[in-house]
Amino acid sequence: MVEIRKDYFTEKLSIILPDRGLKPGQVIPQRAEKCNYCAGNEEMTPPADLVLVRRGDTLLKQTDSEGDVVKNWSVRIFPAKSPLVVPTAPPSYGEPPHYSEPAVGYHYVLVATPKHDQPFSKMDIEQWTNILASLQDKVRWLYSQKGVSYALVYVNSEKDGPPTAVHPSIQMVTTPRVPPAVEEEADTVQTSLNDLGVCPMCQVVTAETGGPRQILATDFFLAFAPWVSTHPFEFWIYPKRHMTSLLKLSQKEMMDLALMLRSTLGGLARALDSPNFTMVFHSSSEKKTTKQIHWHIEVYPKREKWTGLELGGGIYANEVSPEGAAQVLGASSRKELAQLVGIR
Ligand SMILES: [Zn+2]
Ligand SMILES: [Zn+2]
Ligand SMILES: [Zn+2]
Repeated sequence: MVEIRKDYFTEKLSIILPDRGLKPGQVIPQRAEKCNYCAGNEEMTPPADLVLVRRGDTLLKQTDSEGDVVKNWSVRIFPAKSPLVVPTAPPSYGEPPHYSEPAVGYHYVLVATPKHDQPFSKMDIEQWTNILASLQDKVRWLYSQKGVSYALVYVNSEKDGPPTAVHPSIQMVTTPRVPPAVEEEADTVQTSLNDLGVCPMCQVVTAETGGPRQILATDFFLAFAPWVSTHPFEFWIYPKRHMTSLLKLSQKEMMDLALMLRSTLGGLARALDSPNFTMVFHSSSEKKTTKQIHWHIEVYPKREKWTGLELGGGIYANEVSPEGAAQVLGASSRKELAQLVGIR
């Protein structure tokens, strides 16, 4: 049984996975010591349906076939071995107050490099561009599938975790409804567009440009520590122009975003000794009827602890001011950018 349950009163959702009998704090045991994502271990994952391979000066898109995996790849995308949602599930729905719906969808993994020890913060710009292009490709495909309302794209990066959490990868999970965090942003944008005719997220970009929370600006993107930072050294990356989806990135913008991501994640790793982090892509749903947002990326360095204030009150206590964080991350990200631009 995999189902999505909705809270008695609020919009909160939880995917309830098959019970593995775990006690609180217990970690799901790793079945293999070897990393499933490393080059040479391709047989340990389901066959990949998008493999990016370099042949001379050109990049080719290939697919694993039964018993014959593509070698010497640069990016690899395949269905997750332990998916959070599944393409087919019995159509069973629960009525409020026990509302539930089948957790129907697709869960794919993009392995961002064949090299286990090459973190996102150290990859070259070309690799980052390849990752973004492959991501666009797969997300576009996901939205062409039946029953997909949203494709959530995120990264969990852990330097001391199980092998597959250390190996740089991106998760793509589709959901049959727009996730509440995106829906809430979309409601605000829609209301402002209707009432005032302006995108509030465009206004934020203007307000934070050149201010005390700016971290880095490239040709097309702005990185800043948000006014309400909930995590120490949290930062967001927004396209400067109004753009609703990462699927709308041009080639030029994609290369610029690669430079921005590499510089800021490099800056984060340089300043704080490569902390664990979560990175989320908030893009508009591609479904015609849904409300749109100004798409962006949010990066959350991992917090050590959660207290009753956060879990019980929905109020965060953050011991690093966004202004202070911007100073530290700004200096280290500019150093990274200078090195990258210098060596190109
Ligand atoms: Zn690996
Ligand atoms: Zn906008
Ligand atoms: Zn967001």
